[in-house]
Amino acid sequence: PPEQLDLAANRSPVFYKGQPRGVWANINRIEDALLAAELGADGVGLIRTEYLCHFEQHQPGLHEETALYEQVARPLHGLPVTVRTLDLGGDKPSSPFHAGQMDQGMLGLRGIRLSLKDPLAFKQHLRAILNGFRGMDLRLMFPFVTTPEEFVAARTLVQEVAGKDPLPTLGMMLEVPAAAFMLPEFQAAGCQFISFGTNDLQQYFFASSRTTPETSHLQNPCSPAFKRLIEHTVQSARTLNLDLSVCGEAAFDPRLTTFWWDLGIPSLSVPPALIPWLKHRTQTLGGA
Ligand code: PEP
Ligand code: MG
Repeated sequence: PPEQLDLAANRSPVFYKGQPRGVWANINRIEDALLAAELGADGVGLIRTEYLCHFEQHQPGLHEETALYEQVARPLHGLPVTVRTLDLGGDKPSSPFHAGQMDQGMLGLRGIRLSLKDPLAFKQHLRAILNGFRGMDLRLMFPFVTTPEEFVAARTLVQEVAGKDPLPTLGMMLEVPAAAFMLPEFQAAGCQFISFGTNDLQQYFFASSRTTPETSHLQNPCSPAFKRLIEHTVQSARTLNLDLSVCGEAAFDPRLTTFWWDLGIPSLSVPPALIPWLKHRTQTLGGA
């Protein structure tokens, strides 16, 4: 018989082998915020701002963008919320302002690389995020970071925008394999947390594009190679006391649930509709 999910019970924290674990939400659309809250998200591990803002159509003004974030923030008060700065280029919409001028492909100017090309536009985006999520437990995350220098450059712009206001917690997506071997330097650059973006991390690690079905079989998150990369990174993060999460699709790969939790990852971030399933699965596998 189909399993019955108790939504009220779903709002309480979930335990795996006696340890509390966070089941967090990925948010792509405004409606996802309410859904995440209703389905018992313990936090938000990824807000994809490029999809919320429809940057491919037009660049929102500061007030429009701030209002959008206020709407997303409303149902999420009291929860830690991780906002990713614009991730344009690659498989995402490209920046209309640089169309034709630069390579915005998978290996070109995308994510934080593109944002750092246009500090004024990036600072307006940061201002909208800081205003829209004011008063919340805000974690700000940069996409597609390759070097600690990029992190310093991005952090400096956040500091300029925040002025005397307290800085949000700062972190980055782990999507570029080279970054996995530089955690001490990233921490020295001000990075406080890492979120595995396994979709891109797999693409770059296996040299197999996420948009090419013919080579997708090469991207195997259950392979020893990928697991060793993850294990190395988690060990490095643990010695540094860096907070960790997973927000790529491997976070909800049923073959990997115990892998992530046994590694001691404190939270997995998944599409809102999967929260009840992952909480239930965690309790079941964790023996509580
Ligand atoms: C990822 O790369 O795993 C990720 C979560 O980001 P996106 O899917 O938006 O590239
Ligand atoms: Mg990504």
